[in-house]
Amino acid sequence: MPTDFASLRAQFDLPEGMIYLDGNSLGPMPRAAAARVAHTVTEEWGKLLITGWNKAGWMAQPSRVGDRIAGLIGAEPGSVVMGDTLSIKVFQALTAALELNPSRRVILSDTGNFPSDLYMASGLCRMLGPDYTLKTVAPEDVAAAIDDTIAVTLLTEVDYRTGRKHDMAALTKLAQAKGAVTVWDLAHSAGALPVHLAECRADFAVGCTYKYLNSGPGGPAFIYVAPRHAEKINPALSGWLGHEAPFAFDLDYRPGAGIERMRVGTPPVLQLAALEASLDIWDQADINDVRAKSIQLIDRFIAGVEAACPALTLAAPRDGNQRGSQASFRHQDGYAIMQALIARGVIGDFRAPDILRFGFTPLFINDEDVDGAVKILADIMENNLWDRPEYKTRARVT
Ligand SMILES: *Cc1c(COP(=O)(O)O)cnc(C)c1O
Repeated sequence: MPTDFASLRAQFDLPEGMIYLDGNSLGPMPRAAAARVAHTVTEEWGKLLITGWNKAGWMAQPSRVGDRIAGLIGAEPGSVVMGDTLSIKVFQALTAALELNPSRRVILSDTGNFPSDLYMASGLCRMLGPDYTLKTVAPEDVAAAIDDTIAVTLLTEVDYRTGRKHDMAALTKLAQAKGAVTVWDLAHSAGALPVHLAECRADFAVGCTYKYLNSGPGGPAFIYVAPRHAEKINPALSGWLGHEAPFAFDLDYRPGAGIERMRVGTPPVLQLAALEASLDIWDQADINDVRAKSIQLIDRFIAGVEAACPALTLAAPRDGNQRGSQASFRHQDGYAIMQALIARGVIGDFRAPDILRFGFTPLFINDEDVDGAVKILADIMENNLWDRPEYKTRARVT
């Protein structure tokens, strides 16, 4: 059955009059999330207290929810677990990947990667010693830079600023042919486009859930480990809930079975409840339909903006198959333009130095939203409505 987008949209709580083009940064609230979290608070935490860990299934939740995420990213059952934040999961995947390739010392990434991924990689290299280095090249030069010195490739499939998409299948194949282990960051892929981790034979993947997967602010990340590696990993973040028998309280660490060992500490039960409400909506969506609709929405947006706003330069790939689920434009006064848009109810965001970023999520964005956003942006550009002092003061979060 084709995805019924109107029905999905009705399951989100979107403020009247707002065109929300920032689901790539923080997904909106599923209507059912409030009741789901309230139930967990009052019926589970409130009434079961500590017995909730067993009776309400809180302890099994990270792998139960992980299996639902696995379905969205083409991963094998039992290969994904939830917990911590994405930055932590990047660190965890990198340490495990480096350990699988002990004779090499170089992590390869690209200059389009999200800074936190690069910071985690360089912090890890510093900890491991002077032999370890993080090498970054331009995104288009990644393939050429993969040689037999590279231990691990750390790549974010979709560039958070431009939306440019790496070819995961081709780069994974190339990296592995050169003896490197791959870590894929799916922050802007999970819930945005079809991902085929098992089919690509990816080694590790990580991603967050508060963007396209709508788990709410602070929602936990996920980590994928290919089943062929899972039993070989000796986790560096060796927390008690990744132990084979947490409640034996042994003094020595023994890794848990398979993906369970990638757990660290106490899971975020309330936030996972919110995520489950969102995954109930995802159960009604076919990711291939989502991808097709997203490409069509973005093509429509790009055509509208280019026709009406000649001062804005497209920063995203024009070919829908080459980008993620966002459209980006450059303008030197991008920050002020975005503030003017937000004041008119069109919510996107700004990424330094000059990127206006608009996320398109067919779960709750439709053609009328696209046309409405283009119309308001055109008015702002044509009449220089952005050129006001109050739009030029930078807030803490841009
Ligand atoms: C959003 C994002 C992050 C954020 O990491 P957190 O630890 O969840 O704050 C990291 N990496 C990439 C590629 C992202 O897009």
